[in-house]
Amino acid sequence: MGRNSRYDILFEPVKIGPVTAPNRFYCTPHALGTGNQMPHTRAAMREVRAEGGWGVINTGYCSIHPSSDDSPLPNARLWDDEDIKVHALMTEAVHRHGSLAGVELWHGGGGTGNRMTRMPPMSASGIAGESTYSGWINLNKSRPMDKQDIRNFRRWHVDAAKRAKAAGFDIVYIYSGMNFGPYQFLLPWVNRRTDEYGGSLENRVRLTREIIEEMKEAIGDTCAIALRFSTEDLLKIPGENMETEAHEIVSMLSDLPDLWDLKSSSWVVETASARFSEQGAQEPLVSFAKALTSKPVVGVGRFTSPDAMVSQVKRGILDLVGAARPSIADPFLPNKIDEGREDEIRECIGCNICVSGYHDCVPVRCTQNPTMGEEWRRGWHPERIAAGDSDKSILIVGAGPAGLECARAMGERGFAVTLAEAREELGGRVTIESKLPGLATWTRVRDYRTNRIQSMGNVDIYRDNALSAQDVLDFECDHAVIATGATWTTDILAPNGYPSTELTGENIYTPDDVLSGATLEGPVVIYDFDHYYMGNGLAEVLRSKGLDVTLVTNASAVSAWTFMNNELAEIRSRMIELGVRTELECTVSAFANGKVELTSIYRDKTVRSIDCASLVVVGTRKPNDALYQELLAMPDRLKEAGIADVRSIGDCHAPGAIVHAVYSGHECARTIDSGSDTESILRERPLI
Ligand code: ADP
Ligand code: SF4
Repeated sequence: MGRNSRYDILFEPVKIGPVTAPNRFYCTPHALGTGNQMPHTRAAMREVRAEGGWGVINTGYCSIHPSSDDSPLPNARLWDDEDIKVHALMTEAVHRHGSLAGVELWHGGGGTGNRMTRMPPMSASGIAGESTYSGWINLNKSRPMDKQDIRNFRRWHVDAAKRAKAAGFDIVYIYSGMNFGPYQFLLPWVNRRTDEYGGSLENRVRLTREIIEEMKEAIGDTCAIALRFSTEDLLKIPGENMETEAHEIVSMLSDLPDLWDLKSSSWVVETASARFSEQGAQEPLVSFAKALTSKPVVGVGRFTSPDAMVSQVKRGILDLVGAARPSIADPFLPNKIDEGREDEIRECIGCNICVSGYHDCVPVRCTQNPTMGEEWRRGWHPERIAAGDSDKSILIVGAGPAGLECARAMGERGFAVTLAEAREELGGRVTIESKLPGLATWTRVRDYRTNRIQSMGNVDIYRDNALSAQDVLDFECDHAVIATGATWTTDILAPNGYPSTELTGENIYTPDDVLSGATLEGPVVIYDFDHYYMGNGLAEVLRSKGLDVTLVTNASAVSAWTFMNNELAEIRSRMIELGVRTELECTVSAFANGKVELTSIYRDKTVRSIDCASLVVVGTRKPNDALYQELLAMPDRLKEAGIADVRSIGDCHAPGAIVHAVYSGHECARTIDSGSDTESILRERPLI
């Protein structure tokens, strides 16, 4: 099928200074969790998107000098000529597919900690950008830059730009945004200088201007110089001659950079999850710019719909449609649009598991795309998978994210697949949990897979079919895969992870009970030591029914893990807005006579009581592995039935987040015929 002409505009080339992007699909700089330590992994993670049709592929933030070190977070670097070759791996890979390669040169200024290099961070006036951000407290505050520092700062940019050119990059960024280096000079409350780099807007912009000019002079004949600029803070400052200082800066620098990459001022806003923001939510941060420059403008907005992309271009908001998450979830999104296969796009669900991968300092993981980060070390491709023996039959029991992904990928491999699901509805936990407030996009995990399966002639789905061990034996398949999920328990663990209180009796509920419609009486206490979305999601549901809700947790913050996926602040605000009371750093030690007893995690004897008619425990889940265990216990009968092996996958194997279930289903599909459930995994090793 050919491309819908409605989308032709997305495939127009765009001139960016001395280079030309083949289309408008622009993979913006974003951290991958690889740094320079994993150059092959990084190159493969970028290459797959060039192969999938993204016209421009950028690195994540790439430090230009040891005085800008974000360790332990994995950032790229171009500190000296030795660093060139690890980047050349990526540029060569991107060029193989006709795309442009860009590098986001970065100096963190006072917005980074230099934990590894131990050099004092430096900033415009000695105000450390991140000193009040409790997430990554840095005890090493910044020092004010003197004139020599500023000269060095400019030179480091130029030196790194020359290395970038040598590495084969086509687009080289200067990063004047998000609390980093030159951006700190732009902000009047951070820049308190009285020399020619402080005071008037012209003075505050001077450093950014000088760096662009000097980089252009050094490499601008063959490389485009892009400016990444955060508008959010400056849009709030009224300008002298124009509406705001953001307008004035774009107008002052106008056609000096070859490309404007515009964004918010915070990593949390930039990566707002689908629960808290819509597709295209960043438009107000970007929409003013095109009137003030003739150079191409790029911005992001978690765009997965080609119609939304076209609208951005046609309405004159963007020239290049920027994407990080949509390109992670579907590296082949542009090619699918080009080939009229929009319905095959694996749409990002906006869950931000990818963000948590970077915070975990590992290659980013994706709920929708289990191959992300596995391209090099396991040789997994998002669109290609080795053919299997079509005579082999596979029975998969359970159609949650694990079973569906396993069936989809096994189907692509050509096996004769049967998927049996106990319920009428497919999707397992995704179907249930997507009904929590704001999580409707999560149904995409189910819908992408069921759509793909429906187009295959070799996968049969049986709904409303709860299988017993005898049913599995009677089926006489070659391989049986059990994906029967997990069940929440009311077990309460102590903060050290050991089982502690055992609560029994009436009015104690699990999330499964609440989600399947149990009627709870208020006041409700939710004891959350799962620390992710379930505790606060149920609080929101129960509050909307008018119940009085208190969220108790043993952590120091509500939904503490969500710091990792950048949702914590939004969740906390939502709880405040809804009037959900919170009790931090406590465990629930008893529940009787309309009261729960809370014990401080610090001093066992500090005990308080609060009113509670219903207690919801959001803590642990146990695998639904009875069927799996029953089958394992009958090796002779399995042999008689011709079943070579039985595997458990997803939550039935090990309860986790949806990302783990999808990965497990995919891994099983790749390895079912290899005799082992893990293949050899490559490792990047330091060269001694
Ligand atoms: P996962 O996240 O591992 O995919 P889920 O809990 O989302 O797990 O999905 C498990 C699915 O398995 C559910 O849809 C459930 O209805 C189904 N299921 C559980 N037991 C059986 C069974 N015996 N036969 C068929 N389906 C089952
Ligand atoms: Fe989108 Fe979630 Fe994948 Fe990130 S992990 S790209 S937010 S689906």
